Amino acid sequence: MLEIINKKVVLTRKTHECYGCLKEIERRINAIYVTAKQDEQQMRFHLHEKCNKIIAKDKWFMGSGLFKGCIKEAEKVLEVVESINITADEGLPFI
Ligand SMILES: [Zn+2]
Repeated sequence: MLEIINKKVVLTRKTHECYGCLKEIERRINAIYVTAKQDEQQMRFHLHEKCNKIIAKDKWFMGSGLFKGCIKEAEKVLEVVESINITADEGLPFI
């Protein structure tokens, strides 16, 4: 389990990989620099401002839901959910 110790806004001087979505964080933009602890080991990573908001807002990312690539994973799940089309006359197949 990942425990966040500290977060701060930084201006990136070089590109970084976002811990949440695994996409590149450009240089010279505001990013969130996170200090965290996992299995008694300290780790540091960067997040896009948007990804930080998603993580902060969504309780799903608390505790074990927060891991490297967690936002990317969540997007994949969302795509699958959105690709399920249920028309009204099909009824409710999940009940
Ligand atoms: Zn990101």
